[in-house]
Amino acid sequence: MANTTGGLVCAHHHLYSALARGMPAPPERPHNFLSVLQQVWWRLDAALDLDIIYWSAALGAAEAVLAGTTTIIDHHESPTCIEGSLDAIAAGCALVGVRVIPSYGVTDRWSDNGSLVDVSAHQPMSDGARRGLLECERYITSGREGMVGIHASFTCTNETIAAAADLAERLNVGVHVHVAEGPEDGDAARRLTGLARDNWLLVHCVGLQDDLPGTIVHNPRSNMNNAVGYARPARFTNRVALGTDGIGADMPEEFRLAYVAGRNHDLGFSPETAWSWLTNGWVLAPQSRRDEVVWNYDHMDSPWHLAFTTGTRPIEVSIDGEAVIKEARPVSFDLEEIRRKAAEQAHRLHERLAA
Ligand SMILES: [Zn+2]
Repeated sequence: MANTTGGLVCAHHHLYSALARGMPAPPERPHNFLSVLQQVWWRLDAALDLDIIYWSAALGAAEAVLAGTTTIIDHHESPTCIEGSLDAIAAGCALVGVRVIPSYGVTDRWSDNGSLVDVSAHQPMSDGARRGLLECERYITSGREGMVGIHASFTCTNETIAAAADLAERLNVGVHVHVAEGPEDGDAARRLTGLARDNWLLVHCVGLQDDLPGTIVHNPRSNMNNAVGYARPARFTNRVALGTDGIGADMPEEFRLAYVAGRNHDLGFSPETAWSWLTNGWVLAPQSRRDEVVWNYDHMDSPWHLAFTTGTRPIEVSIDGEAVIKEARPVSFDLEEIRRKAAEQAHRLHERLAA
């Protein structure tokens, strides 16, 4: 029985989506996973600028630490604002005191003249993908912890995927990539075979049949939200970790969703399995385990208790020995200011989307 844990880890986030809440309805109602991307996320990410990215990251980081999460592994895309985007995310997280391991998710879905295109595997790498790789390289070679991002195989050329894998190898970091989230990416295993390594993060893997090396990141709430189906993560021999795919960073909540989604598929599914996925975050970000979170609940180390206990909240959080939350209130950042500035940027973003 313990009311104290290490800092939790969100193994897949999109901090830029923190300001998506309340965005104008898309021009067409999405009817499948691809149209969710086209109508919502690919319009939103094209409207981001550095101010929006910074305050979105600050708000997402604040919400994370208020939920006991001290490391965010982020996957970012802002095709009209690539250079400096990872710095803006890092600065937004630093304002709060939360650790971030960012990546720029490269893609060839934007042509060099700025229009969305269907990607053929054999076409040459786009300028946007090249600039995204440079952003990853610039950030990581500055001495900070990051990864090389790929959006997903189906929006990338073979040249881009190979270049991302090569860059990651040279920088001695992993690649952070969406894999077989929906049927559009059904060819992901074939595209990534021979390139993926144990230090890669393979996100979603709903339709993945083959063995690829890497950690599989399960995002149960997002998968349900996008109706892509249950990923059945327990079938893999790979390490499995938990992410939110941009819907907050409340990891006990994501653990409970992982449990109940598993149970909905198989009555024999144990909360201990979902718990192992949550605690695998500490393999990916070991420094987070040394942070301290004191909770308002005494059984934070018991999967069978936690699976059935909603509303667990941190009372105290310290990161690297620095107090960030005390008596359930932020002490190292101004939450009201972050909310106010984020709301201003959300207003700008939503106006851009309505234009
Ligand atoms: Zn994602």
